[in-house]
Amino acid sequence: MVKIGDYARCPQCNQMGRVVWVSQDEKRAGIRCPGHHSQLSRGLSKFGSTARPQTKSQKNMVFLMEIEMATPVSAHR
Ligand SMILES: [Zn+2]
Repeated sequence: MVKIGDYARCPQCNQMGRVVWVSQDEKRAGIRCPGHHSQLSRGLSKFGSTARPQTKSQKNMVFLMEIEMATPVSAHR
């Protein structure tokens, strides 16, 4: 079980994030991911160099996930 301040894998990109929030019933956790995520599930076209990105990719987004699904990561091993 993870708690605030623990490291845990981002549910979306598997990078190591940080637990920044746990619900009061301890069923959900918020993982802050250091990686970039775009708002769209699909990436932008690789060929569309003339097209401007419609969405910004965001850093340090917080993802909610089931706490049971969170994988605690020890940073010191
Ligand atoms: Zn991520």
